[in-house]
Amino acid sequence: MLSGFHPGLIILATVLATILVVLLFVVPSNKRNLKNVERKFAGAVSDFVSERTKSEEILNDLDVGVIAYGKGGVRINVNPAAKKMFQPASIPDKFDEFIDSYGQDNGVQAALLLGSEAINGKLLMGDKILRMRIKLSHFEEGQAMSRLVVLNDVTEQEREEQRRKEFVANVSHELKTPLTTIKTYSESLIDWGLEEKPVDAIRKDIWRIHDDSLRMERLVEDLLLLSSIDSKGIRVRMETLNFASLVRQVVDRLHHQAKDKQIELSCYTLSRIPAVYIDKTSMERVITNLLSNAIKYTERGGQVKVYISYLIDDVYVKVSDTGFGIDKEHLPRIFNRFYRVDMTGSRMFGGTGLGLSIAKELVDLHDGKINVASTLGKGTEFTVMIPIARKVFCDTLEAYQVGSPMQGFLYQTAAQALQQHATDMGFPENCLSDLTDSDQDKLLSRALICEEDEWSTGTQSRLPAN
Ligand code: ADP
Repeated sequence: MLSGFHPGLIILATVLATILVVLLFVVPSNKRNLKNVERKFAGAVSDFVSERTKSEEILNDLDVGVIAYGKGGVRINVNPAAKKMFQPASIPDKFDEFIDSYGQDNGVQAALLLGSEAINGKLLMGDKILRMRIKLSHFEEGQAMSRLVVLNDVTEQEREEQRRKEFVANVSHELKTPLTTIKTYSESLIDWGLEEKPVDAIRKDIWRIHDDSLRMERLVEDLLLLSSIDSKGIRVRMETLNFASLVRQVVDRLHHQAKDKQIELSCYTLSRIPAVYIDKTSMERVITNLLSNAIKYTERGGQVKVYISYLIDDVYVKVSDTGFGIDKEHLPRIFNRFYRVDMTGSRMFGGTGLGLSIAKELVDLHDGKINVASTLGKGTEFTVMIPIARKVFCDTLEAYQVGSPMQGFLYQTAAQALQQHATDMGFPENCLSDLTDSDQDKLLSRALICEEDEWSTGTQSRLPAN
């Protein structure tokens, strides 16, 4: 049938038909394939981008500083933690410059030259101490020279380590001094023979040995107490107590010590003092330390005054003396362990240099504050402030009502005490967050009854009560 057509026309028709078939069937199918490929490609890119974003988010959230140097030692990434650690300095763009600036004094550059794989060094940046690790990395395929600089802020650990070393050195020194005395005096007694030495001299030597053994005993006791506070192993029995009564008992106890030095010791209660929620033994220890220091560091014939009062939500006790005073340059370190203003002076009085640091730790345990004010040659005033029991219990209850119980030893103990009172009053277990206002009032009234209220029931002090 086609034989009647011109062959050229037949070829043209065949080409057109082929194009038509291609246009009708092949192109759409290829387009579909192309779309599939495009979709897959877009998916892969989006997966890649999201993975990369995730990695960057993780990198941004890290406390660890990370700087990445890639091909040719050029910086390719740095996370915010690293930027913060180096502030205000900027981080060099090239690895070599980085090492020139930060790897010379700490041996990092030398270790790199020796070809070590993992390199560590410390870096001082202002008041921060950083630990720097440099690693060869394969984050860029085939780039053997890619380097990761990983930085950790180890300031607190280093300071802690330094404090620990100083503490051990101080303890050894403090123990060595009385030990040497004990050894020397006992050796002299042995060498001389008791018969050849006058009785008075023997007695003196034995007293020296005795005094220094007491000093060692005090030191060991203080160290054990500090260690129990540090390890949170200290035994405390929190109770609602009359603060004025407790302070006055301590003042009474030290009355003789003051009298022996002809120091006038007086105690003033300035107002009716609300109850406190405290550990009696700890707080007695704090007041005893402040008062015995005031007596120790005041000349004969001086005065020591104790004021007890309260201010809004805190009770306070102020121990004020007319003694030697403390130079203001020493005041910031006065609560440090083993810190003594005058080494010989304090030793002469048999001090360990630990009393005030223990006092501070114990006051902290009660969420209180301890302050000092002093004028050299005129006298010193220590003030201890402790939150009143009502405030501690109210804060504890309020925190339970809003569903976020307060953390910390004081408030956890207060919560336990309140729950115990609530159980005794017939409320269910774990009821602190569900109490009505009137139930809370009842609970508070019960919790605020002092367990030992001898002053409010009329016991009198031997000292003037003003
Ligand atoms: P110490 O056992 O040596 O008394 P503390 O920790 O109680 O140790 O006191 C630390 C130092 O503070 C004392 O060595 C003393 O130099 C000084 N200090 C403490 N209280 C007073 C005070 N009331 N007046 C003058 N100096 C004081």
